[in-house]
Amino acid sequence: MKIGVLALQGDFAAHAAALQQAAWGNSMPVEVVEVRRTAGLAGLGGLVLPGGESTTLLNLMEDEPWFDRLREFHRSGGAILGTCAGAILLSREVTNPDQPSLGFIDATIERNGFGRQVDSFETELRVDIPGGKMTAVFIRAPRFRRLSGEVEVLGSWQGEPVLVREGNAIACTFHPELTGDVRLHAFFLGVVQDNGRWR
Ligand code: GLN
Repeated sequence: MKIGVLALQGDFAAHAAALQQAAWGNSMPVEVVEVRRTAGLAGLGGLVLPGGESTTLLNLMEDEPWFDRLREFHRSGGAILGTCAGAILLSREVTNPDQPSLGFIDATIERNGFGRQVDSFETELRVDIPGGKMTAVFIRAPRFRRLSGEVEVLGSWQGEPVLVREGNAIACTFHPELTGDVRLHAFFLGVVQDNGRWR
């Protein structure tokens, strides 16, 4: 069973470590691989799009037809977890400023939506994942401004959605890879498993 972490830019190493820890903790036979070329998507059950800088990611993705390959991956049932900049990539509409995105989650997301005054902060979230509240680190985080009825809210902060899911695509506006709490990564592995892409 292979799970990939997009390793073009950003916080991919911490995600790989969190996935591995979640797999060991749940006795799941998982191989975590760093994905730098579209060919690396072959055979993956799930893929993590890490945080970083979404414009930089988009620039780096111009070298290969990443959007086409990721759309095929998604259409064929591959699960995707996008965190922070990754959540921006997964949303249908991006503002501040507008930029291209994959649109697997029918949402509008505003980049740096908490403003410059609140660059980064850490807080406790209510999440629909067993184990109680989750500590979340927000770093120049985007903010969901609209969600369609198809999008399920799995976590919120002060009444705002910060962890959402549409089918096999999960997006969070915080950094779950930085706290040592790997429940979201374990949840993601469970989604991949339920998908039948566990091979
Ligand atoms: N502000 C970044 C962006 O717009 C996201 C920040 C992050 O991933 N920590 O892409």
